Amino acid sequence: MPEPSQTPPCPECRGAGYAVEQHLGRTARARRCSCQAACPRCGESGYVLVPGPGGSVAQTCACRHLDERIALFNQIGIPAAVAKASFESFKSWSPDHAHARAVCEDFARKFRLDKPTQGFLLAGTPGGGKTHLLAATLRYLALEKGVGGRYAEFMLVLSDMKAGFTANRSHMDILGPLIRVPVLAIDELGKERGTDWERSMLDELISRRYNSGLTTLFATNYAFEERHLPEQPGRVVRTRSADFQREAEAMSLAQRVGDRVYSRLHEMCAFVRLEPGHDLRKDAAGSGSIWKP
Ligand SMILES: [Zn+2]
Ligand SMILES: [Zn+2]
Repeated sequence: MPEPSQTPPCPECRGAGYAVEQHLGRTARARRCSCQAACPRCGESGYVLVPGPGGSVAQTCACRHLDERIALFNQIGIPAAVAKASFESFKSWSPDHAHARAVCEDFARKFRLDKPTQGFLLAGTPGGGKTHLLAATLRYLALEKGVGGRYAEFMLVLSDMKAGFTANRSHMDILGPLIRVPVLAIDELGKERGTDWERSMLDELISRRYNSGLTTLFATNYAFEERHLPEQPGRVVRTRSADFQREAEAMSLAQRVGDRVYSRLHEMCAFVRLEPGHDLRKDAAGSGSIWKP
C-alpha cells in the first residue's frame, strides 16, 4: 500500500507494497514487500487513530487491507509458470493480442461484486498467452480490488472428483468451493475426454455459478468456430493415440464440450480469439527475451 510521499518508490515493489514469487515450484505466492515489513503507520497493531466527530477513533490500518488481499491472492492457485503474470508484463504482438489484453483488463477494472458481470472466453492455439491473461486478471482482482478468485484446470478438477469417490467424498466436496468463489477461471477447457459424466459436471459447475450471478472466465485451445469436421455424436475416444490427438486438436470447442455447455458459454462470456500464429514460448527459448510471463 503506497504512502504518498516525496521519497522515490521502493525499487522491489515500485510502491505496490507486495511482491509475488513462485512457491515450491507449484503456485504463485504473494508476500508483503520488505519495505512494508513493519508498518510505519500502526506499528503492527493493525489500527490507527484518526480524528472523528467526538475525538479520535480507531480505524483499520491500510496494511491490514494489504494482508487481506495478499491472502486472497494466495488462495487463487496461480500456476508457478505464470507466477509473475500481470497486465503490465503481457506483451502484445498483434492486434489480437492487444484486443485480448484490453478485454481482460477492462473486465478486471470494471468488475463489481454487487452485480453480475459478463465473463470472457479466450480461444486459440497454445502459446498465445491465454494462461497469462487469466492469471493477470485474477491477480488484479485480488491484489488491487480485494476480490477473491480461483484458477482451475477442469481436467484436474475431474481427477480430484474421481479420487474423492474412492474416499467416499461427494463430488460437491470438490465442486462446492468452485461454485461459490466470486470469480472462477477455468483453463484448458475441452481438454477432458468429453464423456457424458464429465460434461454434466462441467454443466453443473458453470450453470450453478451463472444462476448465482457469479462470473466465470475460460481459456481453451479449441477454436469457437466450426472446423468442418463431421459431427459424431456420442462417440467417446478412450485412448490418447497420436491419431486421436491430431483429430482432437482439429475439433471445435462446440464439439469438445457439447452443444449444451457451448450455448451456456455464449450466455456467460464474450468470446475472444487469441491466435499467436507462432509459439511465443518457443521463440522466447530461441531469442531469450520476448516471452515474459
Ligand atoms: Zn517495496
Ligand atoms: Zn499498519
